[in-house]
Amino acid sequence: MKSQIVVIAEHTGGVIQPVTYEVVSFAVELGKMIDRKTQVVIFGKSIRTSAQQIAEKTGLPVIGIENEYLDLYNGEVFKAAALKALETVDFGYICLPHTATGFDLAPRLAFFLHASCITSVEKVRAGNGDIRFVRPLFNGKLQAELAPATHRSVLTILPGAWPPVEIHPEAKGSVDIVTTDLVPGASRTIASKESEKGTLNLDDAEVIISAGRGIRDPENLHLLKKLAKIFPKSALGSSKGACDLGWLGYEHQIGITGQTVSPKLYIACGISGAVQHIAGMKSSQIIVAINSDPDASIFNVADYGIVENLETFIPCLLEEFRNFMQQKPLTTFRAVNRTKMDRPEQERR
Ligand SMILES: Cc1cc2nc3c(=O)[nH]c(=O)nc-3n(C[C@H](O)[C@H](O)[C@H](O)COP(=O)(O)OP(=O)(O)OC[C@H]3O[C@@H](n4cnc5c(N)ncnc54)[C@H](O)[C@@H]3O)c2cc1C
Repeated sequence: MKSQIVVIAEHTGGVIQPVTYEVVSFAVELGKMIDRKTQVVIFGKSIRTSAQQIAEKTGLPVIGIENEYLDLYNGEVFKAAALKALETVDFGYICLPHTATGFDLAPRLAFFLHASCITSVEKVRAGNGDIRFVRPLFNGKLQAELAPATHRSVLTILPGAWPPVEIHPEAKGSVDIVTTDLVPGASRTIASKESEKGTLNLDDAEVIISAGRGIRDPENLHLLKKLAKIFPKSALGSSKGACDLGWLGYEHQIGITGQTVSPKLYIACGISGAVQHIAGMKSSQIIVAINSDPDASIFNVADYGIVENLETFIPCLLEEFRNFMQQKPLTTFRAVNRTKMDRPEQERR
C-alpha cells in the first residue's frame, strides 16, 4: 500500500476548528495529484465524538488518541501522541493548519521523523516529476516554491488558502480510538483562558474602521476613533499585527484567527492585506483601503484605494467632513485612487 497523507485535526474543547476541514481539502487535492489516501488523526482527553464528527463530515478514516494530558495543547505531549498515532500508519506527508498550535507542533515532528518541514503552504503544484509547495514571503509580495528533498514532509497549511472540504453525508469514515500512556515532559499546560470580549460588538457595526501596523504609533488611534465617530453604528477593528503590538486588544482582531465581519463599510488603515486578514473582512459591502504602499495586497480587494500616508489623509478627510457638514465648498487633497477594478482579473484575490 502506498504511503498516506495524514491530517492532524485541531479542536478547542471538542469543537473542531473549521481550519481542520481546510487542511483536509488540501490533503485530498494533494492525494489526487500523487494518488495517495488521506487519514485524519485527532488528540484529546475524550475525543470519540469529535472523531466521529470528522469521519461523518469527510468520509475519511480517523484515529483518535486519548489521554488525560491531551486536554490542552502542550508541544511535548502532543508530539509524543502524534508519534504514537503514526506508529501504525505508513505516511509520506503530515499536514497541520498553520495556527499557533500547528506551527509549534510541525517542526517538533519534522525533527523527530527526519522529515522536511514546509510552513505556510498556500498552493501546491506538480513540478518536473516532483511536487512543489508554494508559500508567501514578505506579506505575500513574493512567493517561494519548495520541493521536499526527503521521503517524508511535515506541512503547515495557511488558513484561508483552501476552502473547507465538501460534506459527504453518505460516505462515513471509520473511527479508531486508542487510549495511550503519556506523561508530561519538561513542561505541562495548566490552563487556557479565552480573551475577554468586552462590550464591543463588531458583528452589529455597520461601519468598521480598522487599524494596522501602518498607523505606526498607537497615539494615531485617535484619528481612527474620530473617523469612527462620523458614523452612528461604527466600531474599531484591527489587524493581528496591531493587536500583537498591544495597540488594541485581541477582541478587535479581524481575520482567520479573529472575527469575521461583513459591515456596509470597512476602512482598512495601514493594513497590508495578508490572506489571514482578508479572510475575515472580504465580504464587507464596500472596502476602502488607506495605505502608503501602492503595491499593498489590500488593494486587490479594495473597492476604493487611497495611496497615501494615513497621518496626512485622515485629518484631511475629517476636515472635509466638517466642511461638508457646514456646507463649505470641498477642497482638493492629494489621494490616488487604485481599486481592484484597475487590476487584471488574475491579480485579484
Ligand atoms: C496562523 C496565523 C493566523 C493569523 N491570523 C490573522 C488574523 O486573524 N488577522 C490578521 O489581521 N492577521 C493575522 N495573521 C497575521 C498576518 O499574516 C499579518 O502578519 C498581519 O495581518 C499584518 O498586519 P498589518 O497589515 O497590520 O501589518 P503589516 O503587514 O506590517 O502592514 C502594515 C501596512 O501599513 C502600511 N503603512 C505603513 N505606514 C503607513 C502610513 N503612514 N500610512 C498608510 N499606510 C502605511 C504598509 O505599507 C503596510 O502595507 C495571522 C498569521 C498567522 C501565521
